[in-house]
Amino acid sequence: MFSTKLEYIRENNVSQTMEHILRRMLIDMPDKPLEYIHELTKSPVPPQFIIAGPPGSGKEAQCQALIKRYKLVLISSGELLRKEVSAGTDFGKLAEPYMKNGELVPNKLVMAVIRSRLEQDDVKEHGFLLEGFPRSIEQAELLEAEGITPHAVIILDVSDDEVIKRIEHRRTDPATGTVYHLLFNPPPDDDAALWDRLVQRAEDFRPAVEMKLKTYHDIIKQLKTYYGPLVEIVDGEQNIKNIRKAVLAVAERRRLK
Ligand code: ADP
Repeated sequence: MFSTKLEYIRENNVSQTMEHILRRMLIDMPDKPLEYIHELTKSPVPPQFIIAGPPGSGKEAQCQALIKRYKLVLISSGELLRKEVSAGTDFGKLAEPYMKNGELVPNKLVMAVIRSRLEQDDVKEHGFLLEGFPRSIEQAELLEAEGITPHAVIILDVSDDEVIKRIEHRRTDPATGTVYHLLFNPPPDDDAALWDRLVQRAEDFRPAVEMKLKTYHDIIKQLKTYYGPLVEIVDGEQNIKNIRKAVLAVAERRRLK
């Protein structure tokens, strides 16, 4: 039981539920608001989450867990942009030079690509898990301008030291592209040829990782500033099963019911 009304409101995401109804009403501006609310609340609200984590945080595995549980659509900005580029679309042609130079694609362009994905039926029906976007307060504001607020912003917390430890031990087999980890997932002992072939990718060198971490911390600072109480920090240094448990618990607590 809830000891106070405020606690009840918090535990049941009542403010966000009310906000959801109001937002939808302001989009549709129905003639009969009460009937509209009645209709609207008959169907469940699909979950909407943002997830972020430093390189090597195991974010992919957690995305998969959330997708499996809620049938969410994963919307990854990097992946969407790469698809646009390889399909040779207008968006892709505009984005390609930035991506090739390792620069951020202009806000409005990424937003346009994300928007066209958000508008598709599968997202409307099942909800979404946004990854890689927003990366700044400006991008969060663009998302907000589309009428979209997440139900939670899930951040996998892994210390810089741990990230460096995880990534520095990565080795790649250039013949197959398989990525190994010298401590957690080493190649078979008896495959001497494979051991000889292993290389460390330039992106896994320490200075490159440190640069990425610097950028990542800046992104997280902005997300925390913008989303405040919606942010949920999950300890990403526990074993992977416990991380999954914690992530799913957050999602269940935060989704609108
Ligand atoms: P990375 O970790 O290198 O940024 P991603 O796959 O997330 O890898 O993104 C690939 C590229 O797509 C980025 O280098 C950037 O050019 C572009 N991109 C992805 N997300 C965004 C975003 N939110 N804002 C601007 N550019 C983005």
